[in-house]
Amino acid sequence: MRKPLVAGNWKMNKTVAEARDLVNTIKSPLGTVADVEKVLCPPYMALMAVASLLDGSDIGLGAQNLHWEEKGAFTGEVAPNMIKEFCQYVIIGHSERRTYFGETDETVNKRVAAALKHGLTPIVCVGETLSQYESGLTAEVVRRQISGGFAGIDSANAAKIVVAYEPVWAIGTGKASSAENANTVHQKVVRPALSELFGADGAEAIRILYGGSVTASNAAEFFVYPDIDGALVGGASLKPDEFVAITKAISGR
Ligand code: PEP
Repeated sequence: MRKPLVAGNWKMNKTVAEARDLVNTIKSPLGTVADVEKVLCPPYMALMAVASLLDGSDIGLGAQNLHWEEKGAFTGEVAPNMIKEFCQYVIIGHSERRTYFGETDETVNKRVAAALKHGLTPIVCVGETLSQYESGLTAEVVRRQISGGFAGIDSANAAKIVVAYEPVWAIGTGKASSAENANTVHQKVVRPALSELFGADGAEAIRILYGGSVTASNAAEFFVYPDIDGALVGGASLKPDEFVAITKAISGR
């Protein structure tokens, strides 16, 4: 049984004071949804403050990236053990990182290995662009991102991995994928690709989230499919009522 997971990617939003306000608003309603794993991913600057507010709650904390090196002359980067001081999760390979900051499957792979080495749960994002979608390349692109992103990762780590299928054309556009399309990609592309790397049992243990314009109004449509194990939520995670409602939508499954 895979426990449903809903993660909020706050992207580059919220000062420390604003982050505290948001957490203070959502902490207790989220805490009532005990059967769902909840994760907040604020910007680096707010991690320490949010960690202390979440202390003693069942809400997890994630960073939005990490560097693979342990320490040293890497100006502007944050090392895994620094993330580990506050977080249990880390988003890796988000499409905005791939598009604007030159992330490749190779750097995603190094980050995944570093996260696992430090006991962090990587939430690894994959997904095709609009032109790849329109050219019928979704399966090919997603398979390549999975085989590259998880190359050399020991299958003993499979259960610790989370994958987020996020079609780039659905992120921040208000145009979510249909739930049926997302389910087909999860079931026919993502899990089989994971199975090739980690075996059928390993792949069965991995949570596959859908991400891309998930809101309180459409969340339940996705969660009827057993291969959709939760959501990675961007914009709607900044709105307390929306994020709580999305989390409640998968509760009881
Ligand atoms: C995301 O940033 O991962 C995301 C899915 O964004 P949005 O929900 O805003 O589309």
